[in-house]
Amino acid sequence: MTKKVRVRFAPSPTGPLHIGGVRTALFNYLFAKKHQGTFILRIEDTDQNRYVEGAEQYIIDALNWCGIPFDEGPNKNETFGPYRQSERKHLYKQYADKLIASGNAYYAFDTAEALDYHRKDHEAKGKTFIYNWHNRLKLSNSLSLSSEDVQAKLDAGDDYVIRFKSPQDETLHLMDIIRGDIKIDTNILDDKVLFKSDGMPTYHLANIVDDHLMEITHVIRGEEWLPSLALHYQLYKAFGWETPEFAHLPLILKPTGKGKLSKRDGDKLGFPVFPLKWTDPTTHEVSRGYKEDGYFPDAMINFLAFLGWNPGTEQEIFNLDELVSAFELERVHKAGARFDPDKIKWFNHHYMQEEANDDLAEAFKKQHTELKEIDVNYISLVVGIIKERATFISDFWELSSFFFTAPTSYDEKAFKKALKDDTKDIMTHVISIINTIEDFTVENLQTNIKGWITSNDISFGKVMMPLRLALVGALQGPDVFDIMYMIGKNETVKRIENIVKTL
Ligand code: GLU
Repeated sequence: MTKKVRVRFAPSPTGPLHIGGVRTALFNYLFAKKHQGTFILRIEDTDQNRYVEGAEQYIIDALNWCGIPFDEGPNKNETFGPYRQSERKHLYKQYADKLIASGNAYYAFDTAEALDYHRKDHEAKGKTFIYNWHNRLKLSNSLSLSSEDVQAKLDAGDDYVIRFKSPQDETLHLMDIIRGDIKIDTNILDDKVLFKSDGMPTYHLANIVDDHLMEITHVIRGEEWLPSLALHYQLYKAFGWETPEFAHLPLILKPTGKGKLSKRDGDKLGFPVFPLKWTDPTTHEVSRGYKEDGYFPDAMINFLAFLGWNPGTEQEIFNLDELVSAFELERVHKAGARFDPDKIKWFNHHYMQEEANDDLAEAFKKQHTELKEIDVNYISLVVGIIKERATFISDFWELSSFFFTAPTSYDEKAFKKALKDDTKDIMTHVISIINTIEDFTVENLQTNIKGWITSNDISFGKVMMPLRLALVGALQGPDVFDIMYMIGKNETVKRIENIVKTL
């Protein structure tokens, strides 16, 4: 029997979740759902210095807004809990001790000053200081010191770290679903710190222990963790645990295609890089979010799914269920994925058309005090007419204000273009036609006005242009007859009379 798929999204709550983090969460979610597995949220908060108030709640809110909630995590189905590493603190020391006992790790007592000295000394010689097999016996640790000295230091409460003892002259074969087989020469690896005397594990130890205890089957995470893979493989081996499968997702690149998209790029390049708005708890600096900028979660998800993955067909529109069935880690590519802020607008426009007009109308009404007294059913009809030209709900007013209020001025250029000597007579006649229409429908308006135009051999522009200008205030907007029908007979006549007065 194959094991039940269990994947985890393991962010550190050091600030708002970057859009790349949301993509990682999404790919984990899609993979889990595709295989009827479990999607876990684990909060990696071992580095208390970098802990930011509100960041954990932000992560949870962002996943919920995107419609990709976790199955297990803080305060939810806590079978493998707790899910915050700070609450699992007591667990890790015994694993570090096991590694020491098995000869896979050792105590190191080098002071920060000593290490700094070595680093600078190497730098001056154009070299990089690596703490590993080639120099560890010359440094201060339980491999170079006598066991009495080591015990004395520990008893005296000296600061220490526990380092992994990376082997010499071995070749590691790492496997990554996206990148294939990777060979690593252990001689280039350093003896990474796993545990510190403050009682806290480092990311590496906590991450591996938790993935094991939480029975994670697949580790899906960003490419920036690829350099840690060799150590993680060795840790699994040292513990004698089964290694999960790994998939490292490609970087997300700036819109230019050059360089990694960073948290700062949003401000610089004028688009959000966070799912939700974020207010920094100390500086009170505000960062924009996709939600508050008017994006639909479906658009966000569809857009993010294509950052590094494609279905291998021409199809671009995928709702969440379709993504779940189409998604395959094997189809995720290695090359960095360019972030195109115009593409998410394109998706937003698409998903806008799928939204119910009533829901859009409710949201539109909330945004504009001018609509406070207006029946939402009427707003909904207007939305149905104009949404095809909108990307955001915030575009609606610009596209539809004339459905709610008469123009207060006329576009100057259009005015010159549309109004001729005979306009006054023509408009007066149009008013009389409209007044005779009992049943004020689009069809009746069309038949009567168009009929009159053709039978009198007048050019269409001479009638339709001033008419549009009277109704809209500019030479734009949807069909003139639709507008007349929507605003009603009285308002239509009033607006035409208004323009006649100016002539
Ligand atoms: N805490 C790491 C992060 O912030 C998790 C990396 C991993 O998934 O192993 O991205």
